[in-house]
Amino acid sequence: EKHTSSELINQTEKYGAHNYHPLPIVISNAEGVWVEDPEGNKYMDMLSAYSALNQGHRHPKIVQALKDQADKVTLTSRAFHNDQLGPWYEKVCQLTNKDMVLPMNTGAEAVETAVKAARRWGYDVKGLAEDQAEIIACVGNFHGRTMTAVSLSSDAEYKRGFGPMLSGIKLIPYGDLEALKAAITPNTAAFLMEPIQGEAGIIIPPEGFMKAAFEVCKENNVLFIADEIQAGLARTGKMFACEWEGIEPDMYILGKALGGGVFPISCVVADKEILGVFNPGSHGSTFGGNPMACAVSIAALDVLVDEKLAEKSLALGEYFINKLKEIKNPKIKEVRGRGLFIGVELTESARKFCEQLKEYGLLCKETHETVIRFAPPLVITKEELDWALERINKVLG
Ligand code: PLP
Repeated sequence: EKHTSSELINQTEKYGAHNYHPLPIVISNAEGVWVEDPEGNKYMDMLSAYSALNQGHRHPKIVQALKDQADKVTLTSRAFHNDQLGPWYEKVCQLTNKDMVLPMNTGAEAVETAVKAARRWGYDVKGLAEDQAEIIACVGNFHGRTMTAVSLSSDAEYKRGFGPMLSGIKLIPYGDLEALKAAITPNTAAFLMEPIQGEAGIIIPPEGFMKAAFEVCKENNVLFIADEIQAGLARTGKMFACEWEGIEPDMYILGKALGGGVFPISCVVADKEILGVFNPGSHGSTFGGNPMACAVSIAALDVLVDEKLAEKSLALGEYFINKLKEIKNPKIKEVRGRGLFIGVELTESARKFCEQLKEYGLLCKETHETVIRFAPPLVITKEELDWALERINKVLG
């Protein structure tokens, strides 16, 4: 039984909670940078599921890992060991130069885990008095949709109707070093930031901020936590966006492309002085570290390294951003980005332009009203970028 796009959209709208406002397109097939609707129309994906598809849709090596693992064992729970978890841990530790990993499933869960780790480290290692730990985060952040993540948020709409919020959270303007220094107290356990704010509209902090913030954290015995869920794993032209300022955060939060767009998996990575605060019974997840996710993630990380996707993102990103900057249009306020993580900020709502780009076969999504985000799968070729630029020029030029 075949359904048309409009039938499928109506069914979705009728039976699903309306917590999203998707473009009116149904995707029923995908490969690499291309997706197809049930009517057979082809589109280029310039969103990559918010950077979860850095390796492209259905990368053959990642899909093969999924199929192979599905024939062996899919779930054990952590009541028992499985044969994929250890090898995956070791790979993630080698990639991040850290001692230990704690596996979860989604980004928001990994953020929850990082906040729990930082608080417990605050009590057990730093010696804070009970229930006094403070976490500093940044205005404009996006760390997910759980209660901890929305408690961290500065966006009123993310919080409306969901109170009471978690306490012990302070916000500083993104990139404001003096504000960070002023916000730190003897009770501060951690400073949490995205190396580039994705959902806020591809906001890059002032040059030198991350490095200086890291040093301020060291001086005050405060953990520096990098939420690299969207910016990490090759997206910005480096394996981790923190590399742009030559820092290794105390804690990485990873997700999205960690599962290659094939299977959800997320984690927190840190040294044993930090993740060692967890003991049996203190934290967990039925699906966290399951063999399907680990097998897929091993392949997903291999693809990032073997296909040099960070280097590709860097080179193609520079080419793409320069071409975007050549477009003459008074409605374009700024073009900014690192690697293939690019925002075009307009003087008006970006939704209309995303809808027009869709008509030309290009899928992207506005973020924070006035920004078009261009974040294609990193397996994209220069020829495909030129194809996209032709369409972008028609709509924005
Ligand atoms: N943190 C960042 C920086 C993100 O971009 C996102 C998702 O967009 C999240 C956390 C939440 O991840 P998830 O949607 O998998 O819970």
